[in-house]
Amino acid sequence: MAGQYAKETLCVQAGWKPGNGEPRILPIYQSTTFKYETSTQMGRLFDLEENGYFYSRLQNPTNDCVAAKICALEGGVAAMLTSSGQAANYYAVFNICEAGSHVILSATVYGGTFNLIVATMKKMGVSCTIVDPDAPAEELDKAFQDNTKCVLAETIANPVLVVLDIEKFAKAAHAHGVPLIVDNTFATPINCNPFLWGADIVTHSTTKYMDGHAMGIGGAIVDSGNFAWDKYPGKFPGLCAPDETYHGIVYTKRFGRAAYITKATVQLMRDIGAAQSPQNAFLLNVGLETLHLRMERHCANAQKIAAYLEAHEKVAWVNYPGLQSSRYYGLAQKYMPNGTCGVISFGLKSGRAGAAAMMDELKLAAIVTHVADARTSVLHPASHTHRQMTEAQLKEAGVAPDLIRLSAGIENVDDIIADLAQALQKI
Ligand SMILES: *Cc1c(COP(=O)(O)O)cnc(C)c1O
Repeated sequence: MAGQYAKETLCVQAGWKPGNGEPRILPIYQSTTFKYETSTQMGRLFDLEENGYFYSRLQNPTNDCVAAKICALEGGVAAMLTSSGQAANYYAVFNICEAGSHVILSATVYGGTFNLIVATMKKMGVSCTIVDPDAPAEELDKAFQDNTKCVLAETIANPVLVVLDIEKFAKAAHAHGVPLIVDNTFATPINCNPFLWGADIVTHSTTKYMDGHAMGIGGAIVDSGNFAWDKYPGKFPGLCAPDETYHGIVYTKRFGRAAYITKATVQLMRDIGAAQSPQNAFLLNVGLETLHLRMERHCANAQKIAAYLEAHEKVAWVNYPGLQSSRYYGLAQKYMPNGTCGVISFGLKSGRAGAAAMMDELKLAAIVTHVADARTSVLHPASHTHRQMTEAQLKEAGVAPDLIRLSAGIENVDDIIADLAQALQKI
């Protein structure tokens, strides 16, 4: 369906394709298991000889329809849902890594992703090198090792809003024979399609704008199908060498451009099981139906709020890639000319203490961990999401101690600005 229709149409209609007399709305296949007539048929599914559902930990029709919609929006060849954004990034990396592998990580990624790679995957024997996303290409080059398996970065970093130079990262990764994995959560496929700029794999925390209403945790992985794994069989044995747990099938040979997602589904989902519940997938699909409308409003509101804050006497600094004063304005114009995201970060002249005092005075904007849903919200990362980081790590990640993250909702923008104005007046 991708290619044939515009994104707005894909948001509404891609995925579920009812046949004659079937439900108009994607049904929730609330079933752990699926029935077969013969033992042989079922056996063939387990051998991956035939396509079919047998157990919802691996695949479920509701989930697959929603994954197909996200796949169409990103312009990929295959996609899968996961139980969370964390699971999506874990699977995306671990699908091509093992003990002894090395990963290159952008310094400004989301705190949860940072912990996952730097602390948890280290315990699995996967090492990493952290790179400055703004580093020149020559410096990126130096981070690669013989055992490097992928590069992981975010299109728009949460919460510091660094816009990734996707082409620069893709070129560096490809020059060293590894894929670029891009977490596209903040930009969403409405504002940016990383595959068009050379990214190979895209991940999402669907918990954010895609769901859009703060209803369900979820994640997604999409494969462009463009990375030639079989050019590097020694580097990617998991995809290019026989999998003895499936009678020696070779994913790249059997599944071609769908090899990566198939392996993650039949191997990682089978063994680790971070599957999304079909109920949450159903809610996610409802969210996706309005993603294009909401992103437009989130971005328009954020643009006005950012301009308001920038002109306010009590505000020390504002970081929003849609502002001409942003050092990422140029990259944002290149990679996401129709808008970036609804998240703004800013600091007050009264610093860290002022940030806490102002946030307590807000009436419409709520203090929540979440970002990127219909309701305007605020968070102080140094005290909340990033509190496990040392001062040095905070600095490296670009999270200033006074940074307030504001997630512009889709309410009337004048009401949001009035709320900020009254809170700023009180401090
Ligand atoms: C929230 C977030 C994640 C983690 O997703 P969960 O759904 O909370 O597990 C990963 N990456 C980015 C950019 C995020 O904003």
